Parts: sequence; C-alpha cells; structure tokens
Amino acid sequence: MDTPPTIFPLWELPMLPIAGRAERFPVHRIFCIGRNYAEHVREMGNDPAGKPIFFTKPSSSLRNNGDQIPYPLATENFHHEVELVVALDKGGTNIPIEQAQDHIYGYAVGVDLTRRDLQEVAKAKGQPWDASKAFDDSAPCSELHEARQIGHPSRGAIWLSVNGEMRQQGNLNQLIWNVPEIISALSQSFHLQAGDLIFTGTPSGVGPLEIGDQVEAAVEGISVLRFEIVEVADA
Ligand code: MN
Repeated sequence: MDTPPTIFPLWELPMLPIAGRAERFPVHRIFCIGRNYAEHVREMGNDPAGKPIFFTKPSSSLRNNGDQIPYPLATENFHHEVELVVALDKGGTNIPIEQAQDHIYGYAVGVDLTRRDLQEVAKAKGQPWDASKAFDDSAPCSELHEARQIGHPSRGAIWLSVNGEMRQQGNLNQLIWNVPEIISALSQSFHLQAGDLIFTGTPSGVGPLEIGDQVEAAVEGISVLRFEIVEVADA
C-alpha cells in the first residue's frame, strides 16, 4: 500500500511481539470487558447478577512488556487490573459461540490501568468512561503466545503483585463470560477484525499504584508482564 505524503510524520503502528516468531502482531483496536469476575463486581459495589459491559481503549495506549509506565495526569487514585488478553487474527459479525475459538490467534497478559477517581465520578454522573480508561499508556501488555502452541486456557491462576506483595489472585475459571462467549457477544455489536485485542476483565483485589512501584502481572501458562511506574515527564 502506497502512503500519500502527510503533513507530519506517521506514528508507529502499535504492535505486540510474538513468542518464538520474528513477525509482530499489529494491533487494530482494544476492546475491554468490565464486571466479568463476581468477586470484583462485588468489591466495586455492583450486582454480580448484572451482565458484563464493554468499553475500549485506543491502540495507542498499548505498552510492551518491560516498559516504564508514567504515572498519569489528572488522577490521585491510579489502579491496576490484571487481565487475560485475547488476540484475534480473523474477524466477523454474529460469530456463534462454538466457532469463536477459530478467530483467536493467541493470548497475552495485560493490565487495564484505570483512573479510579475519574471513573467513580463518571459512574455517579452517568458520564462516559474514556477519561478513566482510555488514557495514554493505559494498556501494558505482554508478548503474545500462539494458541496453536499453548492451547485455549479456560482455567489457571491469574495474579498481580506490587513490589513483591500479592494484590490480585483469581482463576480463569471464574470468568462470568468465558472467552468464546465474549467474542460472540462483542461480534453482535462490532465487526471484529484481525488485529483486535480483547481485555477480558479483572479478578478482585484492584488497588492503587504509586511512582516507583514494580508491578508483576501473570496468567499461569501464558506469561509474566512486568512494568515500573515512573514520574510523568512534561512534554
Ligand atoms: Mn478491567
């Protein structure tokens, strides 16, 4: 594809490395699921009988394993949420649950970073979540692992520690909507595309991060994602 001249330099396409391969996975969109583990739904004061919800982050918010994450602007309550991430290499609409796995390229570990104070205001006022969820550097994600190598995990520990202290511990078998159900449900509202990532929700134990914190986030059998929170540099 020939690119026409542009009035400022093009930004880099967000991509994820793939374990064991030279090729990269170009990231199209980032969909996120909220309220998908009952204990976390309860800790946020919501009803676990309610349905999970969708929101998005821009692909430009993606960060790679080992990156430094600047403490964001405009918050005093910056939270971690460890999540299983699903990567699609085939799109579609109205995908049946039993065909959903055919659309999955692989899996990664991500953290849905959240400005919790802004989210609480948005929830109380019925406002959008963009400011609380879709901000710069808010989607650190590990390298991808191909489903043909690791299979399709439906159980296994998911955890997050800060400075070596365990904060979040759950199991993939606690997902309210499992991965095929998420893909099927999303594809009823969006034309899913190759390159789309889905953050599948977080178990309980979310909490604040501070400058200098060392974060480790993991899903058993997939990867450990590591990042450090650093002071934001003024542009
Ligand atoms: Mn989340």
